Amino acid sequence: MDLQSLIREIPDFPKPGILFKDITTLLRNPEGLRYTIDTLADKCAGFAVDYVVGMESRGFIFGAPLAYRMGVGFIPVRKPGKLPAAVHTIEYALEYGTDRLEMHQDALHDGAKVLIVDDLIATGGTAGATAQLIQKTGCEIAAYAFIIELVDLKGRENLPKAPIVTLVQY
Ligand code: AMP
Repeated sequence: MDLQSLIREIPDFPKPGILFKDITTLLRNPEGLRYTIDTLADKCAGFAVDYVVGMESRGFIFGAPLAYRMGVGFIPVRKPGKLPAAVHTIEYALEYGTDRLEMHQDALHDGAKVLIVDDLIATGGTAGATAQLIQKTGCEIAAYAFIIELVDLKGRENLPKAPIVTLVQY
């Protein structure tokens, strides 16, 4: 299936110079949505995974059905102040300033193997920070899965080493 034809490009969103990859046009297409989750599940089937971790918010959309298909649990990594119980926090650099991500302290048990899922990898800042958060809790990165990779930004070089699955490369 030609997934690229289902992903809409919006220039200058959310700010000038960014070509935004809009996955809502993929999500609303039944065959596209099914193919995306099934293909991710097929490509990740060989990894030993205890949990899927997805980042707010588009990582939730793909991560939860992928976890369901793989027969494992799903753990959300959220923006600050959203999770109700005690959290681990990681701060990471943005183009201007910093941002933070949080995960419940009791979400993962020691030594758990984790598959990190998001819609898109650009610089790798978000996935890299999530990986550090997971490693901080004594857990392992089994693999990463993204629908879209912006290859020129070399995000994969900013990730702790583990296999990386991507479906569409730009
Ligand atoms: P990064 O941390 O630089 O790898 O950026 C990844 C995060 O930012 C993902 O959660 C993406 O959803 C979002 N993102 C970055 N660049 C784009 C883009 N060109 N189009 C859509 N989303 C993007």
